[in-house]
Amino acid sequence: MILPEPFDLIILGAGIAGLSVADAAILQGKRCLIVDSKNPGGGASGAPMMLINPATGRRAKKAWKAEESFGAISGLLNRVQEQSKHSFFDQNGVLRPALTEKIADDFKMSDSKYNWDHGWLEWLDKPEFSSRFPFIGNHYGGLVVSNAITLLGDTFLKSFSRYLKKNNLHTSYGHEPEIFRKKDDWFVDTGCGVEYTSKIVVDATGWNQTKNGYWNFLPLHPVKGQLATYFFEENPKLPHSISSLGYMAVTKIKPKQITVGSTYEHDFKDLKTTPQASAYLRKKFENTLPGFLEKSIYSRQWASLRVSLPDKMPVIGPHPEFKGLYIIGAFGSKGLLLSTLVAGQLVRQIFEDVHPNKKISISRFLQP
Ligand SMILES: Cc1cc2nc3c(=O)[nH]c(=O)nc-3n(C[C@H](O)[C@H](O)[C@H](O)COP(=O)(O)OP(=O)(O)OC[C@H]3O[C@@H](n4cnc5c(N)ncnc54)[C@H](O)[C@@H]3O)c2cc1C
Repeated sequence: MILPEPFDLIILGAGIAGLSVADAAILQGKRCLIVDSKNPGGGASGAPMMLINPATGRRAKKAWKAEESFGAISGLLNRVQEQSKHSFFDQNGVLRPALTEKIADDFKMSDSKYNWDHGWLEWLDKPEFSSRFPFIGNHYGGLVVSNAITLLGDTFLKSFSRYLKKNNLHTSYGHEPEIFRKKDDWFVDTGCGVEYTSKIVVDATGWNQTKNGYWNFLPLHPVKGQLATYFFEENPKLPHSISSLGYMAVTKIKPKQITVGSTYEHDFKDLKTTPQASAYLRKKFENTLPGFLEKSIYSRQWASLRVSLPDKMPVIGPHPEFKGLYIIGAFGSKGLLLSTLVAGQLVRQIFEDVHPNKKISISRFLQP
């Protein structure tokens, strides 16, 4: 068994959370290894098309630390894009059609209630929304969210990993790691004849955290979601993505595709795509964009799990018993928006002993 020089940090899981931790640690000059049983994009953050939308939920509530986190992820996307030959993001905004009068009332109030910065969001009454976006089905007006991004999850994560490798990230992909501890050191065996070691291990394994035992004191809840990407012979020419109980993502990078997605299955058997979800997504697509489905030529499905906590906030921090073991996870549907900011706080907690914001700290689940 070869033991290379110890790492400052070993990260388990190369999703958006794990890679963001690696990025923050490398910016601090730390020597990092990231290990994934699959490849970057093998988990929930590898969805073919995803949204970064700061106006969340049924009321278009401003997401926690919306400005700061949007600035952080935008900076990261630009840094990685500069060094990647594949385009993967588009700040094309998001439309939020109001499906009921009650939702319209909430959306109208969003601007003043949540104190959005100027230019982030605009409410349009029904006649104006219909005239600007005649392709959208029944609605009571809607919001135009300008600071929203459509992203190719899989392409981004692969580019992000390559970018970090150029900046000295060590990687081990495609092997299920075995983790064990001797005294104050953690060892990671990927079955390739090398045992990696570090005093610090960060678990960023997404839904695996709901079943691996270390974190069973956290009320982590996995929800299955599925996407269907519809392909067209001609560009359907939608200017913005749409968020309406799930989403319809479009981007000029993939001009002949619309991806329809929703995460709603609380009871599920496995991670396979299902005909029931296909029917559900088709209905959603038809209702939101009448007439588009019949013009599509074929579709492809994708499924994964997102994890959340009852307060819908992510979690970071040390394990209360196992010294040197940390978690980052439970991003719900805001993994892209929040990961950069939250990973930065975790790295500062690990290496500079700076307490993270209480709302995301693991301490909220521990007895004082
Ligand atoms: C259908 C669907 C649509 C979504 N749409 C959006 C969206 O539009 N915008 C948005 O912000 N969020 C969206 N989300 C949520 C988002 O995907 C998550 O918030 C985010 O991806 C979580 O990132 P993560 O890095 O924690 O987990 P993951 O992306 O799941 O990464 C975990 C990684 O750990 C690896 N792994 C697992 N077990 C092990 C192990 N034992 N050892 C080593 N590696 C391991 C996996 O292979 C994977 O690469 C969506 C989720 C779903 C399911």
